Amino acid sequence: MNILFASSEAHPLIKTGGLADVSGSLPRAILGLHHDIRVIIPAYREILKHAQQLTLAAYLDLEGVRLPVRILSGRLPGGNVKLYLVDSPPHFDRAGKPYTTSSGSPWLDNAERFTVFCRAIHALAVNDAGLDWQPDIVHCNDWQTGLVPVMLRETSAAPASIFTIHNLAYQGLFDWKTFQSLKLPDDWWSIDALEFHDKFSFIKGGLIFADWLTTVSPTYADEICTPEFGCGLEGLLTLRKQSLTGILNGADYTVWNPGRDLHIPVQYNLRSLFHKIENKRDLQEHFALPVDNAVPLFTVISRLVEQKGIDLILEILPDLVKQNAQLVVLGSGDSQLEAALQQASARHPEHIGIHIGYDEVLAHRVEAGADIFLMPSLFEPCGLNQIYSLRYGTVPVVRRTGGLADTIVDTTPETLADKTATGFCFHQASATALWSAVERALAHYRKPDSWAQIMDTGMRQDFSWKRSAQQYVELYTRIIAQHKYGQILESNVIQ
Ligand code: ADP
Repeated sequence: MNILFASSEAHPLIKTGGLADVSGSLPRAILGLHHDIRVIIPAYREILKHAQQLTLAAYLDLEGVRLPVRILSGRLPGGNVKLYLVDSPPHFDRAGKPYTTSSGSPWLDNAERFTVFCRAIHALAVNDAGLDWQPDIVHCNDWQTGLVPVMLRETSAAPASIFTIHNLAYQGLFDWKTFQSLKLPDDWWSIDALEFHDKFSFIKGGLIFADWLTTVSPTYADEICTPEFGCGLEGLLTLRKQSLTGILNGADYTVWNPGRDLHIPVQYNLRSLFHKIENKRDLQEHFALPVDNAVPLFTVISRLVEQKGIDLILEILPDLVKQNAQLVVLGSGDSQLEAALQQASARHPEHIGIHIGYDEVLAHRVEAGADIFLMPSLFEPCGLNQIYSLRYGTVPVVRRTGGLADTIVDTTPETLADKTATGFCFHQASATALWSAVERALAHYRKPDSWAQIMDTGMRQDFSWKRSAQQYVELYTRIIAQHKYGQILESNVIQ
């Protein structure tokens, strides 16, 4: 199969969250299954600065774009996946982050930027870019690519499309004036198309018009069809439930493997787990915490936003301190949450260490050095850090939602007996419920045998891409066949 994989970020070129991890590793796994998959992302300045061996593949004249857009071609680092960069300097060659300025405000022209991106993806998808290559299917990811399925529906002999929801909370909503300025077909502003409560919704383009929908865990696929998690789109998603599949994200164990991780002071694996202590010492020193292996060391690595349940963590901090535990937090995001965590650290420097910012290397050191990983998300489409934590023997305490429910097995007398326990889960989104899970974790931490067993089971879990990539390939095959069959039926009707 020929597959065009469209995403607004891809590790290691550019990353704001889990989407980049997926876009950096899933295509490699699919290439390994012998399919011609090519990744397309915007040519942000950050990428142009570091990317090597790019060649000019095409010039595109796109509707509504004054200057020609260049398609640069190269390889995704760390593998052999072909990469296309959409180089439109007025839209992407600027200082700052992919969706926001350096200080975190959304770019005012985001709708225009990602409309240009979608137009370029469409041009490649219908073999209109002079590349002499056409995909059988376009795999779109999140709202930034949401217009592609609509554009494809309006093109004859277009490839099939699949749209993956990585986080339904981000929908790409813009006002009527913005919609008008984009010069898109008028009939797209309709409740049956892209209008959503008087706004122009990019994500609806994917949700309504893609041949198939996926999301990143089976539990989240069910959850988004309910009012609690559907962000107002549960009705539409329920209608499409027959074409919605949850496929768990995989972890890239070439990047996240404590046995080969060059970012951590001392590598370790199941047979040399005693080396984890040295990583713990490194982490305690780094955060100026008392160096003591007996003290349980908790960690959070996260975007600091409401979704991640950071409020709940703030509420249990006094209890953690009372228990003489330590906590290190690596994250950035909401300025109030950042300030609250910094204040807590200033009040209890012997117990709480904070690093505000995004630091890939430190994330590895934290995973290696900590004992317990906290992830009390209010909702979590898949979540990757709890999966990385398992491999690093850092036992996760998670809320039972979305991908967290699908990846962590709660510790109970039964799961300990049958050796399936990998962490601690709680249900209610409350500090009391989180604290009772933490207390259970602490009780087991003090029993070295049962703790060693939980770590051991976690480290043996295999969440590599192998199985999930196979599931995507099976789905692509089915959708392409269905799409072609539908086109034949349609053309018969027209005749
Ligand atoms: P989300 O996509 O909602 O942010 P995920 O758990 O799916 O959450 O993925 C988050 C990814 O971003 C992980 O690879 C995690 O290690 C990384 N990450 C998040 N915050 C930071 C940070 N401050 N520094 C380094 N890596 C981070």
